[in-house]
Amino acid sequence: MNYGAIEEPSRKTPILGEFDVVVLGGGPAGIAAAAAAGRTGRSTVLIERYGFLGGAGTAAGLSTFCGLHANIHGEHKQVIHGLADEILERLQKMDGLNTPHLSLANKITAQAYDISAYKIAADELLTSSGVKTLFHAFGVGMTKRSDREIDTVIIESKSGRQAIRGRMFIECSGDGDLAAWAGAPYELGDGAGNMLYPTTMFRIIGVDPVKAGRAWETIPKLMDEAIAKGRKFPRRGAIVRPQKNPIEWRANVTQVKNPDGSAVSGIDVEQMSYGEIEGRRQCWDVFEFIKEVTPGFEKAYIVEISPQIGIRETRRVVGEYMLSESDILQCADFEDSIGVNGWPVEAHVAGNVALKFPPIPESRGFNQLPYRMIVPKGIDNLFVAGRCASMTHDGQSSARVSGPCFAMGQAAGTAADLALKDNLAPRDVNVKTLQQRLQSAGAYLGMDMMAKQTA
Ligand SMILES: Cc1cc2nc3c(=O)[nH]c(=O)nc-3n(C[C@H](O)[C@H](O)[C@H](O)COP(=O)(O)OP(=O)(O)OC[C@H]3O[C@@H](n4cnc5c(N)ncnc54)[C@H](O)[C@@H]3O)c2cc1C
Repeated sequence: MNYGAIEEPSRKTPILGEFDVVVLGGGPAGIAAAAAAGRTGRSTVLIERYGFLGGAGTAAGLSTFCGLHANIHGEHKQVIHGLADEILERLQKMDGLNTPHLSLANKITAQAYDISAYKIAADELLTSSGVKTLFHAFGVGMTKRSDREIDTVIIESKSGRQAIRGRMFIECSGDGDLAAWAGAPYELGDGAGNMLYPTTMFRIIGVDPVKAGRAWETIPKLMDEAIAKGRKFPRRGAIVRPQKNPIEWRANVTQVKNPDGSAVSGIDVEQMSYGEIEGRRQCWDVFEFIKEVTPGFEKAYIVEISPQIGIRETRRVVGEYMLSESDILQCADFEDSIGVNGWPVEAHVAGNVALKFPPIPESRGFNQLPYRMIVPKGIDNLFVAGRCASMTHDGQSSARVSGPCFAMGQAAGTAADLALKDNLAPRDVNVKTLQQRLQSAGAYLGMDMMAKQTA
C-alpha cells in the first residue's frame, strides 16, 4: 500500500559542534577509526545510536572476535594487531577474555570475550584517545557543502534534531547510511536480491560445566539427528559454546527470514520489527531443544537475548576497489595493504552456513586488505570502514568480521589525519606514508609475506 508522502516545513537545525573527523557508528570499525583519528590530535566525534560501543559485538550479542587470527600453513597466528591489541589487553585486565579456540571444523581460531567488559574497554580506549562519544544519537541525514563534499551529519536524540559539522567523515554504520545519503554508489545483496541471513543471538546460564563437557560438539550432532527425524530448525551449522565461566554459553543458532523466505533486511523498519519477534521466537524454540537433550543444561535458562537482531549484510559501498571472493580464496596481495584478513568465506545462505577456505595448509591463509576498499567513489571527504566497505557480496561474507573491521577502521582514522594535513581527498593520500604510520602504531600489514602483486 502506498500512502503517498507529506511535505515537512523547513526549519533551522542547531549545530552541536564542529570537528576535524566525524565517525558514524561505534562497532569495531568505528571504535578503531575514532581512536586512531583522536590519537593524531584531530578533534574527533563518534556518533552512536545506542548507549554503548561494540556494534554487533555487543548490541547483537556476538561475544566472539573472529578474524583476529589466520591459519598460516597450518599454524594459527594472530594477524590483526595495533588498536585491536589494546582492546584485547584491556579485556584481559578485566578478566574478560577467553583463550583463543579453534572454530569452523578446527580450521580457524576465534576468541570469546565478556560483552560488558568489551563495552567498558571500548569506552576507555576512546576516552583515552581524546574522542568525544555521542551516545543515543541516531544519524538520520546529512548536508553537503559541495556536490562531492559532506558538510554535516544530522542526528536525532532526546536533545532534538542537531547537526554535527566535520571536515572529514568516516562511515562505520555497517549499513552505509551516510554514504548512501551522500549519494555514493552502493550494492545490495548478491545481485539477485539475496543478502546474508541475520541471526538473533542468545546466552544461556546455569549450565553444569562438568556434565556438559564438550557439548559444543554434541549439540550440532543432536540437532542433525533430530532433523533426520523431522524436527525443524531455522538452520544447520549451530554454534553453542561456553563463555569464560562455563556456567554461561553463547548460542548462534537462529536464521531470521521473512515469511517469503528472504533474509530480513537491516535497512527496512517493518522487516526489522518482524525479525526481532521472529528471532526471539526461534531463540526460545532452539533453547528448549538444547535444554531437553543436553546433559548439564537441565537447570539452564536464557540470561539474555541480544538487544537487537544481528545483521550481517546490507549496503556495501562501492569504492576504488571491491574485495572479492577470489581475493579471499587466493590470499591476494595488494601494494596498498592496510591490514590483513584470515577469515574464510562464511556465507549465511538459506537454512545453512556455507564455508570456503583458501587451501590449507598450502596457502598463506590470509589476504591483504587494499586501502582502495575504504575509499568510496563519488565523495571527496568520506572514508568507509567495516562491513559496509567496498567488497563484493562474497568478499564481504569473509572480511565483515571484527578483526578486519578493526584494521579498516584504524587505517581510515589514520588516513583521515593525512588527508586533512595535506588538504587531499582520500584517494590522493600517500599510501606509503599511511603504511608507515600504521606499522609504527603496531598494525600488521602482511608485507613480510607478500607472494606476488595481484592488483
Ligand atoms: C549474528 C552475527 C554473528 C556474528 N558473529 C561474529 C563473530 O562471532 N565474530 C565476529 O568477529 N564477527 C561476527 N559477526 C560479524 C561482525 O560482528 C560484524 O560484521 C562487525 O561487527 C561489523 O563491524 P562494523 O563496525 O562494520 O559494524 P557494526 O558492528 O554493525 O557496528 C555499526 C554501529 O553503527 C551504529 N549505527 C548504525 N547506524 C547508525 C546511525 N544511523 N546512527 C548512529 N549509529 C548507527 C550501530 O548501532 C552499531 O553500533 C557476526 C555478525 C552477526 C550479525
